[in-house]
Amino acid sequence: MDIAPLRTSVSGAVLAAEDQGWDAARASHAGTGRPDVIVRVSNLDDVSEAVRFAAASRRPAVVRGGGHSAWSTLDDGVLIDLSALDSVEVVGDPEGGALVRIGGGARWGDVAQVLSEHGVGISSGDTASVGVGGLTLGGGIGWMVRAWGLAADQLVGAQLVTAEGEVVEVTEASHPELLWALRGGGGNFGVVTRFDFRAHDLAAVVWAELGVSGDARPILAALRDVLATAPRELTASYMDVPAMDPSAPAGATISACWAGDDEGALRAALAPLLDLDGVSEREIGVRAYPDILLDAPMPDPDQPLPGFIGGNTLVRKLDDDLIDRFASFRESTPASVIFFRSLGGAFGDVEQDATPFPARDATWFAMAGAFDIPGLVDDAERGRLEGAWAAIEERGQGVYGNFSTTTDPDFAHRMYPATTMARLAAVKATWDPRNLFARNHNVIPA
Ligand SMILES: Cc1cc2nc3c(=O)[nH]c(=O)nc-3n(C[C@H](O)[C@H](O)[C@H](O)COP(=O)(O)OP(=O)(O)OC[C@H]3O[C@@H](n4cnc5c(N)ncnc54)[C@H](O)[C@@H]3O)c2cc1C
Repeated sequence: MDIAPLRTSVSGAVLAAEDQGWDAARASHAGTGRPDVIVRVSNLDDVSEAVRFAAASRRPAVVRGGGHSAWSTLDDGVLIDLSALDSVEVVGDPEGGALVRIGGGARWGDVAQVLSEHGVGISSGDTASVGVGGLTLGGGIGWMVRAWGLAADQLVGAQLVTAEGEVVEVTEASHPELLWALRGGGGNFGVVTRFDFRAHDLAAVVWAELGVSGDARPILAALRDVLATAPRELTASYMDVPAMDPSAPAGATISACWAGDDEGALRAALAPLLDLDGVSEREIGVRAYPDILLDAPMPDPDQPLPGFIGGNTLVRKLDDDLIDRFASFRESTPASVIFFRSLGGAFGDVEQDATPFPARDATWFAMAGAFDIPGLVDDAERGRLEGAWAAIEERGQGVYGNFSTTTDPDFAHRMYPATTMARLAAVKATWDPRNLFARNHNVIPA
């Protein structure tokens, strides 16, 4: 491929394997791939040029926002790195909150920092380095999901570079189907160079971290019961992972966030949990929202991540039987993880067909998986774990694509109900009929 024309038409850096800075440029939070060329776009025109170049070269356009998905670790394509498009502009809104315009390559930690200075917030994810792009386009389950819904539910408009390299301003009035598709249909429809969100007033949050030891079953049941009646300001998670760091506290963790600064309200909501044997208070207090977001280190390129046997599911009813299946999975092997995040509240207020996101009646999102470590997991054990996961999955109502590390080209069919998929395929046919943007949970144009 002759990239010489690209080097002159684009004002950002264009990097090939022989160029200085290549290794750093191809590394991402998900790992390191070997694309044909990397274009570090510096403005809107660069994005159009890079897209047109990919189309003319008949190479896949690989769009990188925050770089946390497996797509940017693949070994070909024109990688369009949006990281320089990281602006965050807050525009006042007479109805309260604010309209916020965010560059397509921004990361949530930086966004939260700027918004907190304006006394507003958007429900993002739990990790600072995750991209606004991938998280929002796939849905986005965050710490205010019960108060305000998914990140995608707060999206009111976008600027998009199409597969033709054209720039489109997307609003509910101008392109309702395209905006619908961007609220959970992934990066299938073009490069989003700017996301427009409606933010909410948020001075601070109350953050709680509780240690958990002993049998997970009664504690998960109590957490479920608390969330069934809790005010929607409360969102919580339960995480049980093997301790990587010997100095870290052993056992599982319940984390909870109250959208607002009313510590008494959070304590009252969590009171049934705080009284339980096996639950201890590690921290409860008022925090700035950016301070509760986690850091995710860049992986060591020489230490490939182990495989993962398991998956995630959206759960309508977290009954005792399902809790037992998760707890038994975790107990059956030490190198495993179970993870729950509460839904409901504002997430469930959204009509099913208002966005592509599946299972709006889910009350929990949950994951279980074991690390496929050579020497620890043989074929028989792998089969047993796959069976244990299948017994969990059969009780779920669908899968959340953003937490799936697969690059299986058919996976999107498992994510969306058939009617949603047909509607996404029609939008795809309008905006990307030749499927230039296929490095995502891919929707085939129809
Ligand atoms: C440590 C960690 C924590 C996480 N926490 C959460 C969480 O709390 N909640 C949650 O819901 N999810 C969470 N996720 C999942 C996360 O939402 C997905 O991994 C998401 O795809 C990451 O987006 P990204 O922009 O960082 O990744 P990328 O790999 O850059 O992008 C992911 C996909 O989106 C496309 N894309 C990205 N930006 C654009 C754009 N501007 N225009 C068009 N297409 C674009 C890419 O082409 C790719 O297909 C987490 C993941 C990790 C690794």
